[in-house]
Amino acid sequence: KPPIQSDSVAVIGLGRFGGAVAESLMRMGHEVLGIDSNAELVQKWADRLTHVVQADATDAEVLRQLGMNHIQHAVVAIGSDIEASVLTVLALEELGLRDIWAKATGTRHGLILERTGAHHVVHPEAAMGERVAHLVTGKMMDFLEFEDGFAIAKTRAPDESLEKTLSESNLRQKHGITVVGIKRRHADFIYAQADTYVEPGDILVISGPTNLIEKFAALE
Ligand code: ADP
Repeated sequence: KPPIQSDSVAVIGLGRFGGAVAESLMRMGHEVLGIDSNAELVQKWADRLTHVVQADATDAEVLRQLGMNHIQHAVVAIGSDIEASVLTVLALEELGLRDIWAKATGTRHGLILERTGAHHVVHPEAAMGERVAHLVTGKMMDFLEFEDGFAIAKTRAPDESLEKTLSESNLRQKHGITVVGIKRRHADFIYAQADTYVEPGDILVISGPTNLIEKFAALE
């Protein structure tokens, strides 16, 4: 297989989501080709991305003329127009892109995108909604779930873990979660070790199955 020639990324649809993706990629030092059919948005992004083009991305021939067949990574950030989103993924798949990411607005939309050739489908609204649900009760300060029901979270150290080392409180045996690190006020994050001593007010960074993380965060 040929070597990857470039880590340029095409971002198609420069709305709120696509714009945020494109902006972050630029900050990370990537070349970004932004495409949108809306002239105003193209204008808005013109000097913020490496290249910005006004085009209808559902047209494979147009995409080829833009050199999209030489790019590996594309993010299809068209949301509300499901037909345009699906046709764009199809066009990119026909051009042979190796890494197509697409934003879905719902479960069925996501399924269609997968079957059309998207390699990764993201559900930003559903994912953020779930995250907020975990945060709103105040038990978790941060929560990130991976696809397979495995999560990482930040939560206050429960009473049973205070004034002892992690090996003494034995949280992994008792609760099925692993303490990855500890954040103490006015101190740097430290990686958790067996002899790490937990003090009142410490914040634990824990990982484990989502249901066990939820139970652990609910402890007083
Ligand atoms: P968000 O909620 O992230 O703002 P939208 O669905 O509102 O997402 O925005 C998607 C963007 O995709 C819009 O700026 C729209 O102009 C653009 N877009 C829609 N259809 C096409 C298309 N066929 N080709 C290129 N850009 C498109």
